[in-house]
Amino acid sequence: MIVVLDHAIRDDDKSRLHSFLVEKGFQVREIVGEEETILGAVGSVAIDIREVELRPGVQRVIPISKPYKLASRELKKSDSIVQVGPIKIGGPRIAVMGGPCAVESEEQINEAARIARESGAVVLRGGAFKPRTSPYSFQGLGEEGLKLLKSAGERHGLPVVSEIIAPRYVDMFKEYVDLMQIGARNMQNFELLKAVGATGRPVMLKRGLAATIEEWLMAAEYLLAHGTEDVLLCERGIRTFETYTRNSLDISSIPVARKLTHLPVIVDPSHATGIREQVPPVALAAVAAGADGLIVEVHPDPEQALSDGPQTVFPGQFEKLMRDIEALAPVVGRELTRIPRERSTPDGGASLGTSVGSRGVGDAADSGAGASSGARGDASSGTPIAYQGERGAYSEMALVRFFHDTEFEPIPSRSFRDVFDAVLAGRAQFGIVPVENSLAGSVHENYDLLLQYPDIHIGGEIKIRVEHSLIGVNGSSIGEIKRVLSHPQALAQCDEYLRGFDWERVPFYDTAGSVAHIVSGGDASVAAIANVRAADVHGATVLKEGIETNPSNYTRFVVLIPGEPSWQEGANLASIVFSTPDRPGALFHAMELMAKASVNLKKLESRPIAGKPWQYMFYVDLELPTGKAEFDSLLDTLSGEVSDLRLLGVYRAV
Ligand code: PEP
Ligand code: MN
Repeated sequence: MIVVLDHAIRDDDKSRLHSFLVEKGFQVREIVGEEETILGAVGSVAIDIREVELRPGVQRVIPISKPYKLASRELKKSDSIVQVGPIKIGGPRIAVMGGPCAVESEEQINEAARIARESGAVVLRGGAFKPRTSPYSFQGLGEEGLKLLKSAGERHGLPVVSEIIAPRYVDMFKEYVDLMQIGARNMQNFELLKAVGATGRPVMLKRGLAATIEEWLMAAEYLLAHGTEDVLLCERGIRTFETYTRNSLDISSIPVARKLTHLPVIVDPSHATGIREQVPPVALAAVAAGADGLIVEVHPDPEQALSDGPQTVFPGQFEKLMRDIEALAPVVGRELTRIPRERSTPDGGASLGTSVGSRGVGDAADSGAGASSGARGDASSGTPIAYQGERGAYSEMALVRFFHDTEFEPIPSRSFRDVFDAVLAGRAQFGIVPVENSLAGSVHENYDLLLQYPDIHIGGEIKIRVEHSLIGVNGSSIGEIKRVLSHPQALAQCDEYLRGFDWERVPFYDTAGSVAHIVSGGDASVAAIANVRAADVHGATVLKEGIETNPSNYTRFVVLIPGEPSWQEGANLASIVFSTPDRPGALFHAMELMAKASVNLKKLESRPIAGKPWQYMFYVDLELPTGKAEFDSLLDTLSGEVSDLRLLGVYRAV
């Protein structure tokens, strides 16, 4: 049952309630959510719920209707985040695990780890105890395999996952692996589930060959009921009458599982298909269907693999797949998880990106990852980060995505200039501003501000998909609407939908602000257009999602950091700005220098120079050369050819 607590419950009432439930024989978990705090109480105990309802500090009691309780979405509405080493799996990011079916030798697993890491995988896989169909097939290297896996993972900075096949290996696995895998054949090996669950460690539970989704979730319940809170589900294909592929990937199990449970869902396209060529398209389909991650078999030389070679992709295929996932992720509102990288700011105080003051797993699950807010309660003590707009603005959404692993305090600011000012004055440690929209083009004001604030540079970027929703006051319906408010650009972007109605279109300064405005007016005939997060933040109702005419609408945001930019390991993009002398071929010569340095230009844009009519600055985004020396020498030669050359930032573009 779910015991919803009063906001004002006294600590002693709460602890007495807790003890009461435990004495009755329940297992009790406290879940602090966005709106309310609950105690989840599960166990095979019969109790009259009025006994609980009447206790002080209890708001209401809701029975959990599903046979799986701890795994159920009824118990926990927000997505769970499972921490595997430094990697958080679940929420807005997609984690890819890669590696061979089995560890075969030190050289093989080291090379596989290098390949996996270089292509962007965040967890290294490798079986050491292989449950093979034939007793004569390669059975794995056993403990020696686990040792090799662990040391390859350490060498390449990757946590590791491996399959455990019997309870007697639990202590051994605790020593070597970060994530224990329960294989498809063992999904209902209840003694194994109990033993692994009792370790309290992260587990990935594969779906059985012939298991229903409910059986799969019941198996997860075993793990949760025995102690661990960190369970990943893994869909790896089920047995059907089809023989062309090794199994049939049940793609619909992904959205179904995500609806029924808060646990992250991983997909294994390798065992699902059994055919190398089918792995990339099926992997992309899984991402499109909402998978939180993938586990893919990749081997330095799949044709020589001792197990599952035909379904194991070549390193080149894996690298291409990772790039395709990176391109696809924003379409479904996600981005790829990367290995946290320490990047210190010039003042040495804080670091940027996924490594900033990592919040606890539970916190991330309940505040950062939820669609509604990453900005409340616990976050107020975090890193202050400025953005332009009201709560629920697209900029805030970009902030939450970029700083997902960080304890942060969002600082809403009136204008873009206020964001720069907040960063400069130290009121915010970072800022985030949009620089370009895929339909509307550059946000020139921010390019100009970057020039006006030489003490601020770009330290990162994130692209988010702009998805507009029609939002009304609570209890309203589309039929009642007479006027619709939003930023003029959002109104224009929803033109096709709006043309179907006779509504007055009212321009408003900001999308999220339009939602706040209609909520304060409380008039059911007035609606707003903004993102779903704005509806959540301001307590309004989404009447229709996805009303934008063109679904390929993305905005690119950059992260602002105080100080001078410097070379960053792992960065792949640099933004520079310069002006050229007023003579024929001046820009051409600058471009020529970049071409000679084999530097790829991603964007070139000109802007008028303030106070110098008809003179222009050029903004260039360029793909970084591999080494710092080449980059420095390019800047050096360029500065001889152009004027006012400034490096705006060196950062990782995704
Ligand atoms: C594996 O991942 O190596 C494996 C044996 O998978 P499954 O249990 O899904 O067959
Ligand atoms: Mn395998």
